[in-house]
Amino acid sequence: MKVYKFGGTSVGTAERFRALIPLIDDETEKIVVLSAMAGTTNALAEMSALFSDGNKGEARKKCEAMRKEYHAVADALFSSETWTLKAHDLADEHFGYIDSLFSREYSRHNEKRILARGELLSTAFLHFLLSEIGIPSVLVPALNFMRIDKDGEPDYFYIRENLKRELAAVNEEKIIITQGYICRNVFGETDNLRRGGSDFSATIIGAATGAEEVQIWTDISGIHNNDPRYVENTRVIRNLSFDEAAELAYFGAKILHPSSIHPARMKNIPVRLKNTMHPSDEGTLIKSASTLEDYKAVAAKDGIIVLRVRSDRMLLAYGFMRKIFEVFEAFKTPIDMITTSEVSVSLTIDDATYLDDIVKSLSSIGIVEVEKEQTIICVVGDFRPGRVGSAPEIFEALNEIPVKMISYGGSENSVSILVNTRDKIIALRSLSAKLFPEE
Ligand code: ADP
Ligand code: ASP
Ligand code: MG
Repeated sequence: MKVYKFGGTSVGTAERFRALIPLIDDETEKIVVLSAMAGTTNALAEMSALFSDGNKGEARKKCEAMRKEYHAVADALFSSETWTLKAHDLADEHFGYIDSLFSREYSRHNEKRILARGELLSTAFLHFLLSEIGIPSVLVPALNFMRIDKDGEPDYFYIRENLKRELAAVNEEKIIITQGYICRNVFGETDNLRRGGSDFSATIIGAATGAEEVQIWTDISGIHNNDPRYVENTRVIRNLSFDEAAELAYFGAKILHPSSIHPARMKNIPVRLKNTMHPSDEGTLIKSASTLEDYKAVAAKDGIIVLRVRSDRMLLAYGFMRKIFEVFEAFKTPIDMITTSEVSVSLTIDDATYLDDIVKSLSSIGIVEVEKEQTIICVVGDFRPGRVGSAPEIFEALNEIPVKMISYGGSENSVSILVNTRDKIIALRSLSAKLFPEE
C-alpha cells in the first residue's frame, strides 16, 4: 500500500484533475489524499472572516460566487449530464450548508465546518470523475477516522483502529480516496490539521497503515535548496534525511507542513516529493539517512516574536530557567529558539495568542522586551559537534544585515539565525550566493 497526496495546484482546474488519472490508475494499491482545489481554502477562510466580522451579506455573496465557480468546474470536468448534475447538486449541498451556517452565530466551530468544505468537494469530484470513466475507486471519509486529541495532536491509536475498520470494508478497489487536512477533535466536532495540513494527513495515514511509501505530489520537482519564491536559481535536493527535512519543514519550507515528517520518521516510511506537471522527474526522497553535505538548504519562518528577559537575579541562580519555561507551559506556547547569557534569556515564539499574558507573567521574573516581525532563517547542513570550523560562510553571507540571535549546537543538522523580517529576502539571497555558488 502506498499513500499519494495531491496538493491544491494538482487539483486546481478540470485539466489538472484529469491529469491525475494516469498517475493513479495502475495496479498499486493506494490511498489518495487530496487537498482542496487551489484557492478554495483561502476563499473559505475569507468568507469565515466576513462572517466573524458580522458582514454576513458579503459572506453570502462570496458563497454564491463560489457555488457558481464549482458549477463551472463541474461543467468542464464531466462529459455526461448525469455526472455533471450530480456534481452541481453536491456543490449546491455544500454551499447551501455554508449559507445555512450564516443564519447562526459565528463560532470557531462553525468556521471549521466551513473550512472543511474544500476537501469534501475535491475528493467527491475525483471520485465522480473516476466513476464516470469506469475506474473503480472508493471514497473513505477522513471524518470517520482522522482525529486529534485534547492537545491538537493526532490520536494515533484511534486513527489506526478506525482506519483499519474503514479499509476492511473496502472491496476490490485499488484506489481509496480520502480528504487531507480535515479531522475531528476530541469532542467529535469537525476540525483541521492547520493550513497546509494535507501533507500531515498523508504521513499520518502512511504511519497508521504501515505504508511502503508516502508520495507528496505538488507543483515543483521536490525540495529546493532555498525558497524559490524569493531566490532565483535554486536547485532541487535529491536526498534528505528525516531530521534534515523536519528542520526545513518546521523552519518554513512551505512545500511541507511543519509536522508532516514526524509520523513518517516514527515508522521509517520513505517520503517522496514529486511534481504533477513532470511526473517522470525523480523529485526528492526523504528517508532515515542521507549523504551529509556542509550546506544543504536554507529556509525561513516568518511571524516570529522575540522576548528578552533580563534579571540580575539570574546571576549564579538555579531554577531561573524553570520559572521562565513554566510561563510558556502555562500558556501552551512552544518556544522555537533560545539563547542565554549570564543575566538574560532571549526566546522566540510564533504563536501570539497569549503574548500579553506571557509578558505579564515574565515581568515578575525580570525586565521583558518584546520585538515582533522577526524571521528565523534555518541553514540545514552538517553541524555535527566534531566538525571543524564555525561555518564562516554563513556569517560572511550575513555581513550586511543585523543578526539578532544565533542558535548553534542545538541540532546536528541545522543552525538557526534570527533576523528582522524586512531583511529576510536579502538574507536568503546572500546565503544562496555564498553557500550554493553556481557550478
Ligand atoms: P501544495 O498545494 O501542493 O501543498 P504548496 O504551495 O503547499 O503546494 O507547496 C509548494 C510550494 O512551496 C512551491 O510551489 C514553492 O513555491 C514553495 N516552496 C517554499 N520553499 C520551498 C523549497 N525549499 N523547495 C520547494 N518549494 C518550496
Ligand atoms: N486545503 C488546506 C489548505 O489550503 C490544506 C492543504 O492544502 O494542505 O491549507
Ligand atoms: Mg501544501
